[in-house]
Amino acid sequence: MEQGRLLYEGKAKRVFATTDPDLVIFEYKDDATAFNGTKHSQFAGKGELNNRLSGRLLEAVAAAGVPTHFVRLLSATQQLCRRVVIVPLEVVIRNRVAGSMARRLGIEEGTTLRHPVFELCYKNDELGDPLVAPSHAAATGMATWSEIRWMERSAATVNRILSEHMAAVGIELIDFKLEYGRRDDGSLLLADEISPDTCRLWDRTTGERLDKDRFRRDLAPLLDGYREILRRLEEATT
Ligand code: UDP
Repeated sequence: MEQGRLLYEGKAKRVFATTDPDLVIFEYKDDATAFNGTKHSQFAGKGELNNRLSGRLLEAVAAAGVPTHFVRLLSATQQLCRRVVIVPLEVVIRNRVAGSMARRLGIEEGTTLRHPVFELCYKNDELGDPLVAPSHAAATGMATWSEIRWMERSAATVNRILSEHMAAVGIELIDFKLEYGRRDDGSLLLADEISPDTCRLWDRTTGERLDKDRFRRDLAPLLDGYREILRRLEEATT
């Protein structure tokens, strides 16, 4: 298995083909972007941290029975993944109100919810990834109703596993975004990344933000938060 041509370059990742048509290489970059790419910086070592964190978290959900695209780490910044066609929806789960939900509904950030929220956003940079009702997604063919129901159940399982995993190291999972992909046989796999770029993670005691909000809101040095999450997770498994 060898690295092939560049298939896609995103804000924080590159995806390469391989000599095996079923496999791709994900390469995590040192870039951080926010507000639909309008804020952009580079942080030496971010790619390596997210490669390790995402690999570890995808393995944790896979161990609990959620099928994912992750195969194995290849190097400091690269991981081998199964090739999928991405469903054009971002699946967001929220355990507390934060970010766009706080702004949209005028509710204070950190407010607890009666139950986790399941949201879908249409993946479209030009439109700013708008929130869509499941009925919009199904009626326009972004996903079938059965795929939407499957993703909702799968995301609820991921929420349970990640919340437990983080709680064990003194971190609260506030919200996160998932992406799913279709395999050739039509089945879905959890794809993309699970990292502090795509999750809000707060220290359970101090409330310190350990995730990308440090960069979005200029709160604190970005990578100190990412390193702290990885340090705690590694310590818990040694
Ligand atoms: N998120 C993401 N990519 C996006 C939008 C959101 O990974 O394009 C994650 C974000 O890190 C947070 C969750 O999804 O953990 C909910 O984000 P929200 O809708 O509150 O958006 P934001 O406040 O970042 O605009």
